[in-house]
Order: sequence, then C-alpha cells, then structure tokens
Amino acid sequence: MTNPYRIEGPALISFSGGRTSGYMLWHILDAHDGKLPDDVHVCFANTGKEREETLRFVHECATRWGVRVRWIEFVDYAKKAPVADRFEEVGFNSASRSGEPFAAVIRRKGYLPNSVTRFCTTHMKIETLKHFMLSLGYKTWTNVVGLRADEMHRVARGHARNASGKDRWKTVMPLADAGVTNRDVRAFWARQEFDLGLLPFEGNCDACFLKARPKLWEVERTRPGTLDWWSQQEAEITGKTNKASGARFVTEYSYAELIQDVRRQPDMFAGGLFDDDPDMDAECGLWCAGEAA
Ligand code: SF4
Repeated sequence: MTNPYRIEGPALISFSGGRTSGYMLWHILDAHDGKLPDDVHVCFANTGKEREETLRFVHECATRWGVRVRWIEFVDYAKKAPVADRFEEVGFNSASRSGEPFAAVIRRKGYLPNSVTRFCTTHMKIETLKHFMLSLGYKTWTNVVGLRADEMHRVARGHARNASGKDRWKTVMPLADAGVTNRDVRAFWARQEFDLGLLPFEGNCDACFLKARPKLWEVERTRPGTLDWWSQQEAEITGKTNKASGARFVTEYSYAELIQDVRRQPDMFAGGLFDDDPDMDAECGLWCAGEAA
C-alpha cells in the first residue's frame, strides 16, 4: 500500500492552523524524512480574525519542525489584477490581527457572508491559495487537505468534486486514507511539547458566524470585546447598502444583541459548549471548493 503522506508535487498543503492539519503536516514531513520537495508548498491563509494562539501555533509548527510555511492574506479578487497582486505574503510578526483581510473582502462584496454564502472562506482561503499557486507558475496541482476518516461526508464531497473536474487541482485527503480520526489527532497532541491551546469551538475566526449562539456568548464572556469587530461590520454595511432591514451575519440575531445579552447577564452559563456543531467541526478552509461558495 502506498503511503498516503508521500506527496508528489506540485502540491499545496493547506495548513489551517488547527490541530488536525498540524497532525497531517507532521506526518507528511515524517514521510519525507523532514524535508519536503521544492514544489510542495505549505500555506496558511490568514483572515486577520484568527486567535493569537492560532498564529503562534502555526509559527511554532514551522520553527520546531523546520518547515517553511507561507503566510498569505487576501488583498483583492479583481480579475484584471495580476494574480500576484491579489494576495500578500506576510509572516508571524507582520500578519494582520485586526480583521483587515476579512474587512477588505466584505467591502469588496458590499454585503456580509453568512452560513449559506460563505464567501469569506472562498475568497480568503480557497481563492487566495489558488492565486498563490498560480503566481508560482503552476497550472494544475495537488491540493492536500486535512479531512479525517470521521468526516466522511466531507471526504465524499471531496471525491465528488474531483470527479466533476471543475477545479484545476485534485484534492487528496491523506488523513482519511490513513483512517485517522479526531481521537488520533487528540492523542498525538497530548504527546507533544506544545499545543494549540484552544478549545475546539475557539478555533477558526474568533467569532465566526457558524459558531452556535451559546458559543458566541462564551467567546464574549471570556474575552470581552471580541464581538465588537463583527458588530461593527454589521453596522457599517447596514449604513451603506441595507438601511431598511439591517445586515446580519446570522438572520436570527445581530452581534450587537449578543454583546447586550452578555452585558445583561455576565455570569450566564452558556452550556452546550462541547456539543458538535456540524459546521464547526472542520477547520475552516478545508471544505472543498464549491461547498463554501
Ligand atoms: S472561520 Fe467562519 S468567518 Fe472565518 S473564514 Fe471561515 S467561515 Fe468565514
């Protein structure tokens, strides 16, 4: 049986900054005796709304394991702009930390993303990673994503997407091929000298609209002010394009309301923090292209 962690270039390894893709990266490096081929690139697409712990984790994986991780951020998606100008390469110190790439996408679109139209993932991750590879001169490549064996519905969608031939890349899922589950990932990180240091619901963008309401309350309760940026995006877009109804990331409530809820009841117990959120159990950006559009 071939080793699923042996990757043939040209390839893009999508590192989301979560434990699962970190696990995958370690095993890919191990399968290549610690050194990746020159045409296999590891990328982290920063949204500017990642938790500092995530940024530190990405940086630590790279430095401890001796692998180059390219940090890239969305700039624009205008077709007339050269692909190299549609993203910016940054590093741990220079990475955006105040939502700049995310705000740029929202401004460019003129409306907010939501659970159905998740253009934040599409533009800040899938398309930005594509532009990165195009800028290096690749026309086609292998896209390596960290979908596990216990995420079979997503894996199946990945295979279906490959079969459709709609993308210029072919997606491979070494963790799914190797039968790796969340339990294996957790056991691996329990043995390491460092870790992400976040609870599962704290990963991805700090107050992502896909997080359930109790989790967003908990985010604001434990880190007051986190929801301000999100509320500000709603207010700004409301003023510009949607005066009548008010723009929201989530139809049922605004971020301003969530902030008020927590102010009124600062000691509320959110509950349900460890429930599975079907949309949040995957690291953002590992969804297959098309699903997030
Ligand atoms: S984590 Fe949520 S808000 Fe951030 S890019 Fe992904 S879907 Fe969008």
